[in-house]
Formats: sequence, structure tokens, C-alpha cells
Amino acid sequence: MSERTLHDPKVIDGKAFATKLREKVARQVKALKEQHGFTPGLAVVLVGEDPASKVYVRNKGEQTAHAGMASFEDRLPATTSQAELLALIDKLNKDPNVNGILVQLPLPKQIDPQAIINAIDPDKDVDGFHVVNAGRLATGGQGLVPCTPYGCLLLLKDRLGDLAGKHAVVIGRSNIVGKPMAQLLLNESCTVTIAHSKTKDLPGEVRRADIVVAAVGRPQMVKGDWIKDGAVVIDVGINRIERDGKGKLVGDVDYASCHPKAGAITPVPGGVGPMTIALLLNNTLIAACRQRGVKLPE
Ligand code: NAP
Repeated sequence: MSERTLHDPKVIDGKAFATKLREKVARQVKALKEQHGFTPGLAVVLVGEDPASKVYVRNKGEQTAHAGMASFEDRLPATTSQAELLALIDKLNKDPNVNGILVQLPLPKQIDPQAIINAIDPDKDVDGFHVVNAGRLATGGQGLVPCTPYGCLLLLKDRLGDLAGKHAVVIGRSNIVGKPMAQLLLNESCTVTIAHSKTKDLPGEVRRADIVVAAVGRPQMVKGDWIKDGAVVIDVGINRIERDGKGKLVGDVDYASCHPKAGAITPVPGGVGPMTIALLLNNTLIAACRQRGVKLPE
């Protein structure tokens, strides 16, 4: 984020929020060790050589250790079979030092990602993608919530307080962002519209929204004239584009035209992105406390 962006009250500074959350998790981890003598552990599994995945996994490992948690990493070759990966998941499920398991996606094509996700113990599924956790989110049970939408919700509540009665439009219906985001907003008593690629009048739907969450994967698709005056705009998209011969990260929202209309808006980078790992650490802490039957430290 530029200096100008940082001092703009409309801008939702996800980076600063995520830093505070990671610091809080680190304090809670320290308290757990002091009061109960154990340290939460997160296991990350990487299969293959995808360069973006390698960067994510390295960042996750560093931030896990930084929060004072135990960080375990398993790197498997791209030729790994589904049975081999399932055997590793089984081992991690049984390991009492591992409280959270994350399998980095995408997986090589010989492996069915849903079969792997559903093999993880739901109580260690810190990504919140297991069908049991999706069911718990939908039915009001105590589960683990997907990190990116959970991060968006925290940013929204921090800015708006009570969300009840707001009209929220979520663009995108993936299992990892769009659907859990819509469910979380519904749980906050928003009136929720889920838009997708077959939605007939997307600009018209978005114009009715008090809250817009864009999780599409299309660079700068949401335009300023779609935004109701004062709406809060959360941009989940991370798209790499070429501009003036250089690579640049942009969201799914056309920031320049949406910023003047919005009441508040997340930038890309520096908005939703940093929240994901912070929520992963938070989920690992929650999972560890539940597994050990101890209260989450203040
Ligand atoms: P995804 O699985 O590809 O889903 C995209 C969704 O967008 C689908 O539901 C699709 O509709 C909808 N869509 C596509 N074109 C559309 C259009 N023209 N109009 C309306 N809807 C359209 O993507 P995802 O995994 O949810 O990720 C979405 C974006 O968020 C990506 O840019 C990704 O990189 C980013 N992301 C960021 C983070 C983070 O940490 N900040 C985490 C996860 C994802 P259909 O269902 O009809 O095909």
C-alpha cells in the first residue's frame, strides 16, 4: 500500500489488522505454554513443485514459527499417488503434536482434492474445507471456518459493527470463498445474494448491495458505477496482470472507479490477502484448545 492509501480513512487496512491478529495469537500461544505446557502445531503438506504454492508454504511455515507454534512440513514429489498422500494424512491425523493439517492446493491431477480434504480429521481441518465443517457452518455447529471468508467477515465487522439487515452481494460461489462467505454473512443476519457466472444482471444486483464481496478471479471486473453510494467493498481477488511491461497484482474490483463511490474498500495488495494466514494461525490455536479441552486464553 502507498503512504497515501494508508492515511485514507476509506481504506480497510487488512495488513495492519492481520498483524494485530497474529500478535494476539502469539500472546495466546505463549499463555497456553505457560498455563498448560503445550504448544499448538500446524502441519503443511506440499505435493509437487508449483512455484506459487512453494512461496505460500514457506510464508505459512515462517509465520507459524513466528507465532510460537510448532511448524511441520511434508514435501512430496509431483508423482505422489493418492494412496501415499492418504497414508500421510492418516499419520498426521493420529499425531497428537499436530493440531492443524493443511494440504496446499492445487494437487497434481492424479489426486482427487476432495478425497484428500475429507480424509483430514475435521477437528484438525484448519482450512475449514471438510464437508463436516461446511455442514457445521451451514447448521450453526461449532466447526472450523475457511480462513479467507472468515478474514473478510472480521474486516467487515470491524468497520460496520452489527451487520444485521444489511444487503450483502457475494460474487462467486466457490466452496473455499463464495459459499462460506455467503453463509457467514447469513449467520450475521444479512440478506444475502450469491452471484455467479450465470447471473443475469450482475451490475444491477451489485447496485442494491450495502456490502459487496468479490471473489471471482477476473481482474478489475467490478466497476464504480455498479457500487451504491457508501457501500463497503471487499475485494478477495488476486490477479497478476501485465501493465507497462511489468507484472502487477490487482483485485476483482476496479479500485480507481469504485473507491470514490464506496464507504470503505479493501486494496489489493494489503486488504484481504494478509488476513488468510492470520486466520489460519487463529484456527490452529482454536483447534489445539478444543483438542486439549482447554479454554482459549484471553
Ligand atoms: P473460483 O473457484 O474460480 O470461483 C470463481 C467464481 O466466480 C465462480 O463461482 C464463478 O461462477 C464466478 N465467476 C466467474 N466469472 C464470473 C463473471 N463473469 N461474473 C460473475 N461471476 C463469475 O475462484 P476462488 O477460488 O473462489 O477465488 C476467487 C478469487 O479470489 C481468485 O482471484 C483467487 O485468487 C482469490 N483468492 C484469494 C484468497 C486470499 O487469500 N486473498 C484466497 C482464495 C482465493 P461459476 O460458479 O458460475 O463458474
